[in-house]
Amino acid sequence: MARKTKGQELAEKLTWSAPNIAKDAPKQISKAQKFCEGYKKFLDEGKTERECVRYAVKLLEKSGYRPFCADESYEPGDKVYFVNRGKALIATTFGTESVEKGVRINGAHIDSPRLDLKPNPMYEKEDMAYFKTHYYGGIRKYQWGATPLAMHGVVIRKDGTAVDICIGEKPDEPVFCITDLLPHLAGKQNERPLAEGLKGEELNIVIGSLPYQDESVKEPVKLLALQLLNEKYGITEADFYRAEIEMVPAVKAADVGLDRSMIGAYGQDDRICAYTALMAEIDTQMPPLTTVTILTDKEEIGSEGNTGLNSDYVLHYLEDLADQACVPVRKVLRNSTCLSSDVNAAYDPTFPEVYESRNSCYINRGCVLTKYTGARGKSASNDASAELMAKVIRIMDAEGVYWQAGELGKVDAGGGGTIAKYVAHMDVDTVDLGVPILSMHSPFELSSKLDVWNTYKAFKAFYK
Ligand code: MN
Ligand code: MN
Repeated sequence: MARKTKGQELAEKLTWSAPNIAKDAPKQISKAQKFCEGYKKFLDEGKTERECVRYAVKLLEKSGYRPFCADESYEPGDKVYFVNRGKALIATTFGTESVEKGVRINGAHIDSPRLDLKPNPMYEKEDMAYFKTHYYGGIRKYQWGATPLAMHGVVIRKDGTAVDICIGEKPDEPVFCITDLLPHLAGKQNERPLAEGLKGEELNIVIGSLPYQDESVKEPVKLLALQLLNEKYGITEADFYRAEIEMVPAVKAADVGLDRSMIGAYGQDDRICAYTALMAEIDTQMPPLTTVTILTDKEEIGSEGNTGLNSDYVLHYLEDLADQACVPVRKVLRNSTCLSSDVNAAYDPTFPEVYESRNSCYINRGCVLTKYTGARGKSASNDASAELMAKVIRIMDAEGVYWQAGELGKVDAGGGGTIAKYVAHMDVDTVDLGVPILSMHSPFELSSKLDVWNTYKAFKAFYK
């Protein structure tokens, strides 16, 4: 190799940019491939927050976690979990230090943008039966037409029993869809702004076309659909008022690219951080500081409701931990550190105009540390301190984690938020860390396996 010039040496010393992992550490490719097989399974098993919780509990119990009991006392190394109303979860490995020294919090969310059924969803029109939907979270509505959808959720029947619904995931099951116009007749529709390509009240899902055979019935196609649901699940039309049913893409997680370097799937925001956080939690034994791994609900609609982080359920859990150690919870909070683990927008070479290339995150350059989110002048953002950035970078560098920094697009191009500000509100040092994603919030989001692997490594280092 030729000797470096003085200028090259100086540049090496003084400048920095995040390297491409595939070029810098190609040995990681096979490790990342292997790790992501489990991630793809997690995506396929968990297409709703409830399904994610159930699958996570299965993995946790297999690894020796027991349900958390506030009245019990725990030893370093003990592993527990707590489920909040079936839709959010907290897992803990007790540390060798007292919680008075603070805990390590890693919070990801397991709700994803989707189409919820309205409370009274079923109707018939021109001999076709449909579901009315109300979208949940930020979606680009036009992306949800003419694509196969599956039906997931829970119904509480009149007698109080619950029944889980899942149609459209097994190969022999039917799927559902929203129709869109053919190009031949879409002249007028094509003139609509893209945001109205499909309008909210046009997101109607086709569920049947055959009638119940009785000419005296007013809506026989709807009746046949109800009959089929009743046979399968024992539910009636009134039960939809006691239900949470989510229509999600009926597509499995898949490798993307000839080199299989990426993953395409629905719901990677933010199950990509949920899975890596959960694996880091499970793989942590005897940490110095107690771990608090949160898989939360409701992030996509602003963390509202009592399964979202804009409620006190995490605070109450921390109060229980503090009570067990006989220390005031405010002391625990003040000394704690939190990674708000969520995705960021990867630089998209097809749409460079919305990104600022020097402050964007890129596929294959590792997990992305996001100092602030928000919109306009950092509005509604948790702006992490220099001290906290230094702490998290030090933790990652010590374990050879590939990381990069990123902003959510150009200044004034848009914006967004995460759970960070709600954790920070409790007086916890909080910063966003996650995975770069392409086509975020679409039915088929794209991520890099090397980034998934390095995010897991970052979370693991955070608990070490
Ligand atoms: Mn997210
Ligand atoms: Mn999101």
